[in-house]
Amino acid sequence: MPGPENEMENCIFCKIANGEIPSTTLYEDDMFRVIFDLGPASKGHALILPKEHFADVTEISEEYAAKVLLVAAKIGKAMKKALGCTGFNLVQNNGLSAGQTVFHFHMHVIPRYDDGSKIVAWDPGTLDPEEAKKMQKKISEALD
Ligand code: AMP
Ligand code: ZN
Repeated sequence: MPGPENEMENCIFCKIANGEIPSTTLYEDDMFRVIFDLGPASKGHALILPKEHFADVTEISEEYAAKVLLVAAKIGKAMKKALGCTGFNLVQNNGLSAGQTVFHFHMHVIPRYDDGSKIVAWDPGTLDPEEAKKMQKKISEALD
């Protein structure tokens, strides 16, 4: 049956985060579990999974939102010490068009190694000032 409850029952990240499916866990506290991504963008690519189900960032609670960046910083710092990466990207996809494939909020922590690999990259466009003004008006009107 469709609906949020059923989505949670069938949610693989709910099961991993809560230990129902075993995983190699890099870090765990009462709110989060951090695991390795099965299809890593670089060596050590990790995922921060909240233990509560939120489909994406628009649904996440204030409590989880406040904590997730602190966990990301903790993991990134440990990766720099332990894996020898020189930086890391935090990536968080929302919606199909943004590349989200698992609809349980998660944040990617992707170590970077000065190896020239393009992981989070785009070809910069140009910002049209008139278009920017129009968008600014529409977006500020749309804010809750
Ligand atoms: P996203 O595209 O932001 O939704 O990211 C989903 C990520 O989860 C992808 O990078 C997948 O490689 C990863 N993934 C999917 N299933 C698993 C799993 N069972 N364990 C670990 N990583 C997974
Ligand atoms: Zn879930």
